[in-house]
Amino acid sequence: MAKKRVMSGMRATGQLHIGHYLGVLVNWLQMQDQYDCFFAVADWHMLTTGFAKTEGLRENTRQLVLDYLAAGVDPAKATIYVQSSILETAELHLILSMITPVNWLQRDPTLKEMVRELHLAEDHVSYGLLGYPALQTADILGPMGELVPVGEDQMAHIEISRDIARRFNHLFGVDLFPEPQGLLTPTPVVFGTDGRKMSKSYGNDLKLADDEKSINSKVMSMVTDPARLRKDDPGHPEVCMIYNGWETYASEKAPEIATLCRAGEIGCVQCKRNLAVQVNERLAPIQARRRELETDPGMLDDIVIAGNARARQATQETLAKVRDAMHLNQPYNRT
Ligand code: SF4
Repeated sequence: MAKKRVMSGMRATGQLHIGHYLGVLVNWLQMQDQYDCFFAVADWHMLTTGFAKTEGLRENTRQLVLDYLAAGVDPAKATIYVQSSILETAELHLILSMITPVNWLQRDPTLKEMVRELHLAEDHVSYGLLGYPALQTADILGPMGELVPVGEDQMAHIEISRDIARRFNHLFGVDLFPEPQGLLTPTPVVFGTDGRKMSKSYGNDLKLADDEKSINSKVMSMVTDPARLRKDDPGHPEVCMIYNGWETYASEKAPEIATLCRAGEIGCVQCKRNLAVQVNERLAPIQARRRELETDPGMLDDIVIAGNARARQATQETLAKVRDAMHLNQPYNRT
């Protein structure tokens, strides 16, 4: 029996952070052993909010591929590719956008949150940003993705993808598209240094590639229990971002920290230092792999070229079926 297809990707907005790793990548690493996985660098999706600042896009794309590989994605098991190299995805997006009601997109809570949190002016909310979930649907359905490991904020988009797939099948009387299913990890939301959801856009992230000094200084800047004025005051871990960090990065040690904190037996500065050690230990093997990969840029290119070819072929096969289902012209070739 053919393996189920998995499709997922990250926007090429910069290096990945721990929220991406715990929220999505750990699922990728497990799934690559069981499924036929397609993992994209979503560079077109970066344009939905970053269209006016594209000079770093190529480098961000390269950095993301490095992050995938350093985190443990294995190109022998999974297809790693760049979204914009699959030109057929743009055609599929165009077709799907014709059958996607605008009010489905306008209701999208992730879009509303993005506009609010990034303080986007009205003229910055483009046609492309509104259509984000339609493009994402084309990404998923191009290689016929059935399972989509995502962060919690993306679950609303996957619902829209399911609706679009269902609508296509219904309109054209076919059973062509699967209804993709979103998958969360046990840690779907990771908080950043300021207590908001960890996000590159908010500047509150701990990057996978951050060196020890950066991690130490970011962790030391995190907010603790504001009611705790002296080292031996009893603390309230439930309101402390550092304690949340313990639960996230070293959950086995969190109960002991909570006990010490409540009894006033550990100071916040020491608690932060200890947490920074845990985070750095967790990142060390990923960073060692990254340093090794950086010595061989040709290998990186080979991986992406092979991945692009495979993803493109899969999307071409889907498009041919889509055109047939809709009675569209197949590309007109002079013979
Ligand atoms: S001791 Fe640790 S868990 Fe308790 S308030 Fe301070 S930083 Fe937070």
